[in-house]
Amino acid sequence: MASTRKAKKPEKKRPVVVIGGGPAGMTAAQTAAEHCDNIILFDKNPEPGKKLRSLSSGPLFISENLPDDKLARAFGDKEKFILPALNAFGLEDLSRHLAAMGIKLTPNGSSHLVVVPDVAPDLPTRLGRAAEAAGAVIRKSSKVSDIVFGKNLVTAVVVNSVEYPVSSVIIACGSVASPARGATGDGYQFARKAGHTVTQILPAMVGLETMERYGKSLAESEFPDCKIQVTCDDEPQFSDRGSLKFTSYGIEGDLVFTHSARIIGLLGREDGKQHRVEFHIDMMPDIKKKDLDTWFTQQVANSPKITVGALLRDYIPERLRAVMSKVVRIHSDKPVANLSYLERKLLLMWVKDFHLTIRRPRPFNETRAVLGGVATEEIDPETMRSKKVRNLYFAGEVLDLLGPWGGYNFQMAFSTGYLAGLSAARALVE
Ligand SMILES: Cc1cc2nc3c(=O)[nH]c(=O)nc-3n(C[C@H](O)[C@H](O)[C@H](O)COP(=O)(O)OP(=O)(O)OC[C@H]3O[C@@H](n4cnc5c(N)ncnc54)[C@H](O)[C@@H]3O)c2cc1C
Repeated sequence: MASTRKAKKPEKKRPVVVIGGGPAGMTAAQTAAEHCDNIILFDKNPEPGKKLRSLSSGPLFISENLPDDKLARAFGDKEKFILPALNAFGLEDLSRHLAAMGIKLTPNGSSHLVVVPDVAPDLPTRLGRAAEAAGAVIRKSSKVSDIVFGKNLVTAVVVNSVEYPVSSVIIACGSVASPARGATGDGYQFARKAGHTVTQILPAMVGLETMERYGKSLAESEFPDCKIQVTCDDEPQFSDRGSLKFTSYGIEGDLVFTHSARIIGLLGREDGKQHRVEFHIDMMPDIKKKDLDTWFTQQVANSPKITVGALLRDYIPERLRAVMSKVVRIHSDKPVANLSYLERKLLLMWVKDFHLTIRRPRPFNETRAVLGGVATEEIDPETMRSKKVRNLYFAGEVLDLLGPWGGYNFQMAFSTGYLAGLSAARALVE
C-alpha cells in the first residue's frame, strides 16, 4: 500500500466517520450529527448517492405501507436482525424524515410507497442538505481506500493518501450491485480486514433472458396482474401473483425481481446438469381453468360477434395478442363464434399457460441488489455495531440483508443508517 500522511490539522475531538453517501450513509451522518459534534461523511464520487441519482427515470419504491413487524417478516430469516432497526426508525419515522425535506411518499396504486419521478432525482441532494444542516461535513470525491486498526479498534481511515484519526467508523458503502452506479464492494474489503465474514455474493433482482425470442414484438408490454408458476425440469417449484414486463431480451418487473435470485439458483449448473426452468404464465388468474370455457360461452352469448382480440383485451396486452396469432395461429380479428373446437381448446390452454423458458440472468451490471454481504450474525442488531471491533458500525446494502422488491431495501438502508448513526453518537457521548 502507498505511504500515507497524517491529516495536517487533527480535529480537536476525533470525528465519527461515515463511509458512503447513499441513503444509509446520509441518514447515519444526519442522525449522528443531531446527537453529537464532529461527523464527517466521505463519498468517493463528486456527487454522493450516485446510485440514487441514476434511478431517475421512474418512481422510486421507498417502502411498503405495513407495520414494522410485517416489514421485518419480509426479510425472511433476517426478520429478527432487522426488527430493532425498523422499531427505531420504521415507515412512519421515514415518512416524517422525508417530509421534513419536502419529499412525500405516495401510494403507487397498491400498498407500495414511492417518491414520484419528478422529485426522485433530487432525493440525494436533499438527503445531503439535511445531513449538512444537522452539522455533518460531507467530503466529496473522497474515496476511503483503507481502514487502520489498532488494539481491536478502528484508529483511522485513509482518504486520498491522508490518514484521518477517527473515534468510530460507520461503513455504509453499499454492495456490488450495478457497480457502474457507485458501490463497488469496498465495504466488503474493509469488513474482511476487521475480521468479518462476507457471505457469498450472488446477483438478485435482475431481468431474465428467455429462450423464446419475441424481442421487439413484445418489448415494453406489461401484465399488471398475472399468476406464474415456475417449474424446474417439469417439477413445480413455486407460484406467485403480480406484475410482469416483457423486454427485448426476455422478462423483468415485480415478479421477476422478487424471484430472480431463486431462479438463478435453479438454473445453477453446480451438478453439471442442464436444468430447464420455465415460467408458466396464467394471464387470466381470476377465472379458474375449469370455468373458462363457460365464461367464453357466456361472452359469445352476450356479444355474438365479439372477436378474440376484443374478448381478451382486458386481460392480455395488445402486443401479446399479436404474438398469439403466431403461437396458436389464431388471429385477433377472428370472431370467437367462428373458432373451431381445437382452436378454442388451444386458446384456452394458451391464456392459462403461456410459457417461457429461462436462459440466463442479465449481466451483473444490471442487478438491482445482491444476495450476500457482511454476515449479520457478527453485528449487534440493537446498535448495528460490529461484534468484533468496538467502534465499527455497518449500515445499508453492505450487509447480508435483502428484502423483497418494492421498497424494502431503501427502507432497510434508511433504518439501519439511522440506528448506526444514533448508536455511534451515543457511544461517543457516553
Ligand atoms: C436500477 C436500480 C433500481 C433500484 N430501485 C430500487 C427501488 O425502487 N426500491 C428499493 O428499495 N431499492 C431499489 N434499488 C436498490 C437501492 O438502490 C439500494 O438498496 C440502496 O441504494 C442501498 O443504499 P446504500 O446507502 O446502502 O448504498 P448505495 O446507495 O450503493 O450508496 C453507497 C455509497 O457509498 C459510496 N462509496 C462506495 N465505496 C466508497 C469508498 N471506498 N469511499 C467513499 N465512498 C464510497 C458510493 O459512492 C455511494 O454513494 C435499486 C437499485 C438499482 C441498481
